[in-house]
Amino acid sequence: MEKAKLGNISYGEQYINTRRNAIRKELIKTSKNIDSGVIDTISDEDLKILFYLYDKYFFENYFINNFKGTINFALSRRMSKSAGSTTALKSNWAMPEEKEKYEIKIGVNFLFQYYELSREKTVAGIKTEDSLHALLITFEHELIHLIEFYLFGNSSCKKRRFKTMAENFFGHKGVYHSLITKSEILSSNYGLKIGDKVSFVHKNKIKYGYIYRINKRATIYFLDRKGIYIDSKGNRYLKAYISLELLKKE
Ligand SMILES: [Zn+2]
Repeated sequence: MEKAKLGNISYGEQYINTRRNAIRKELIKTSKNIDSGVIDTISDEDLKILFYLYDKYFFENYFINNFKGTINFALSRRMSKSAGSTTALKSNWAMPEEKEKYEIKIGVNFLFQYYELSREKTVAGIKTEDSLHALLITFEHELIHLIEFYLFGNSSCKKRRFKTMAENFFGHKGVYHSLITKSEILSSNYGLKIGDKVSFVHKNKIKYGYIYRINKRATIYFLDRKGIYIDSKGNRYLKAYISLELLKKE
């Protein structure tokens, strides 16, 4: 395959599913960590294996045979919203390909937390069957970013070019995921969600407020005469970070 043709790949649904299944089986066979559809341990090396499997099954080994730059693969424990990210560390039309450098990162928490809530989880508009399936679809999304960067020097999954490629390459129907986030687990454990009216004790007084955000603790805006945040009705609020177990739903 020539570089220019990389952008024009278009496969049918059955072809995509067959190839994706082959990748899945081969990854399980090759990986030192992944031995089923349930991922409980994974390394950067697994992402590299995955990349060359996609290269073989979807890109006619274009990358292993032709690409002269560098691609790093890394797992991240810090990603809390995006399940993956791709950056072009050095991408410039005038530069020789040898100097091009890309990085694909996968948010590993989304894989480990996959089973914490038993609801449907989609990635890129595809209903996922298990955490390995979620990894594959997330990885595919990142591969489109990589190829866009490589071919055009920029990439955005909000734009039409990306969406067309994602649909043609991998049958993706969307660009978002509904995998389980840490804040969703916390809210579900404590029965609290963003926007809820809550009370808590602050300096020996009961305070009333709203949940604005949930991370490790909840961000609360609570009514207080000395508040510096003022709503449209003139109510004054202060902000506090409170552990979820100290909040009472009103
Ligand atoms: Zn994206």
